[in-house]
Amino acid sequence: MNKKILLCGGGNAIHVLTSLIGSRPDCDVSIFSTFPGEADRIRDAIPEEGIQCINDLGEDKYGKPVKVSDKAEEVVPGSDIIILAIPSFTHELYLRAVAPFVKPGVIIGAMPGEGGFDCCARHVLGADFVNQSNLFALETLPWACRILEYGKKVEVLGTKKEIDVVVTEGKNASAESVLELLQTLIGHLPILKPACNFLAVTLMNINSVWHPTISYSFYRNWDGQPFDEPPLFYYGADEYTGEKLAMVSDEVLNIRSKIQEKYPDLDLSSLHHVRDWMLMSYGDDIGDKTSIYTMLTTNKGYRGLTHPTQPIESTDGTTKHMPNFKYRYFSEDIPMGLCVTRGIAELAGVPTPNMDDVIIWCQSVMGKEYLVDGTFVGKDIAGTRSPQAYGFFELDEFLRANGYV
Ligand code: NAD
Repeated sequence: MNKKILLCGGGNAIHVLTSLIGSRPDCDVSIFSTFPGEADRIRDAIPEEGIQCINDLGEDKYGKPVKVSDKAEEVVPGSDIIILAIPSFTHELYLRAVAPFVKPGVIIGAMPGEGGFDCCARHVLGADFVNQSNLFALETLPWACRILEYGKKVEVLGTKKEIDVVVTEGKNASAESVLELLQTLIGHLPILKPACNFLAVTLMNINSVWHPTISYSFYRNWDGQPFDEPPLFYYGADEYTGEKLAMVSDEVLNIRSKIQEKYPDLDLSSLHHVRDWMLMSYGDDIGDKTSIYTMLTTNKGYRGLTHPTQPIESTDGTTKHMPNFKYRYFSEDIPMGLCVTRGIAELAGVPTPNMDDVIIWCQSVMGKEYLVDGTFVGKDIAGTRSPQAYGFFELDEFLRANGYV
């Protein structure tokens, strides 16, 4: 019998997944989107041959869903695998929507998972349900991808070589078999490498270190004037940026050391310094491996990528560009990223002055409050996926309640 795969969302990643998985004869794909009007829009747009995925690996795929709906009851029942490939601030919304219709033992997870996905799932679906299911999260999306024509054509601009994936043991399937299944569904690349556990994936959230720290470092000298062109994100980095990234990453590794002092059996070996992550992820795509700064500015995969901006009409009638601080580099990578790490640091008693510099600047441009006088007690913590948002104020309780020890 065909596997029933439910894809939640309707953006870039869902287009790629629909095409890749929908092209398989052994899978029935359905799409569930609660975004107003999106289910109708995508259903109406998909041509007979399916969504075309133009792939950097040179293998175009065509795949289509058997069903598209905005009603959970029409698409969730009977699903064997549920994949959330949506911005992380919508995970809770989709988990709540599917919760009444999912069967125990389902395989359910997120691409990418961002920090604290498992805590969120436990909070919404309940510990018993999560303990029976295979919960998974990919550390990042396997591809850089963009919709070219809504419901019709999507382009994979770059496929990652290797990414970490965490999968829990379930009552119906082993973590190993689920990992194999996920690899089959996405194709031979990127290679899915098993990460130790959800805590390691949460702390190894590269986007949460990369995006806010590079933005902070770049804007520290900004004069507030609009840009003629969107500035380069990675290629616009300077030596200060490389050093700041190293120091934030050092602090994450200090959290690992402190936790492992108290819990030597807790395996966090898949958590790496950003320097090593970069070398493992991009390898020979990097021209100069001397330092983080040189790696950022000579990585082929990063060429041409710009800071998120929005166009404005300037007084001389030309189009200029202002920073977009509502972009996912802030809206996702702070509350579901760096704040989760910062919350764990607070529980572990690890000082994080560099991470704090970044969060303090980000919260100011986002209009949020997470840190107050250096302590993680701001009024917007409830909107994060930090331990504190789920009521954990003590390391041991947090680690035990979430099954890490
Ligand atoms: P996207 O922006 O295309 O996804 C938007 C989709 O999310 C919408 O189409 C809708 O289905 C859903 N959504 C958003 N707000 C919603 C709401 N309020 N209610 C209901 N549904 C809502 O995202 P994407 O590019 O497909 O990326 C998915 C995830 O992968 C994101 O977390 C993104 O940060 C990450 N990511 C993307 C890329 C990429 O190249 N596209 C690369 C790395 C990481």
